[in-house]
Amino acid sequence: SIFIEKVSKQFGDFQALKQIDLAVNSGKLVALLGPSGSGKSTLLRAIAGLEPPDTGKIFINEQDTTHLDIRQRNIGFVFQHYALFKHLTIWKNIAFGLTIRKYSPSAIKKRVEELLDLIQLQGFSDRYPSQLSGGQRQRVALARALAVEPQVLLLDEPFGALDAKVRKELRAWLRKFHEQVGVTTILVTHDREEAMEVADQIVVMNQGQIEQVGTAGEIYDRPASPFVMSFIGEVN
Ligand code: ATP
Ligand code: MG
Repeated sequence: SIFIEKVSKQFGDFQALKQIDLAVNSGKLVALLGPSGSGKSTLLRAIAGLEPPDTGKIFINEQDTTHLDIRQRNIGFVFQHYALFKHLTIWKNIAFGLTIRKYSPSAIKKRVEELLDLIQLQGFSDRYPSQLSGGQRQRVALARALAVEPQVLLLDEPFGALDAKVRKELRAWLRKFHEQVGVTTILVTHDREEAMEVADQIVVMNQGQIEQVGTAGEIYDRPASPFVMSFIGEVN
């Protein structure tokens, strides 16, 4: 689970996050949805420990992580342009975190093979990232993030750089993938359809604040503010 309590963040005199409170239950997939500049990435980076908040607290599985850095948090992270290691094969990319944590060769082999199954790229282990499509690369990035069994998976527009058709395929795939893995996940997106299709709960952000939290149905049927109504109503 993730608990965020009164988290604020300021850049110069610009308030990027204003007293954010949010709870994400274990095993859920929650989407942070909002327009460009609303603070989605800043909040995700605060949860990851990449950008400490000015005030407030962040708990991960009941542990206060506010003052821990990213390596101490056991978090998996995938960005929009999450470069894989170009000079390493797919197999070695996925194994990377296990290798540096000195897992045994047999444990590494077992885990990488499980993950290759999960991302449905069994035959691709000897290829290099340049020999994969963009969608396949993002699946490898997800597998790499999950290799060390993080408590939390944080995804910042992981499909943002891909074309519309591939994004659609990956959306459905991510939903299934999350059901199998069951790790607490936050997905940042400004794509309403993606949020509605994939997430258990949607958190609508605007100007550094949370406007509404609810299921796709709740947000669609009962928008809590004029902003939510117009944002959800807009055509992509
Ligand atoms: P997008 O959908 O475009 O990725 P976002 O919701 O992720 O937007 P953030 O990246 O969280 O938005 O940025 C929120 C606001 O904070 C923006 O106005 C941005 O310019 C500002 N901001 C973010 N990071 C910094 C920084 N390191 N220094 C100064 N301002 C920043
Ligand atoms: Mg962003």
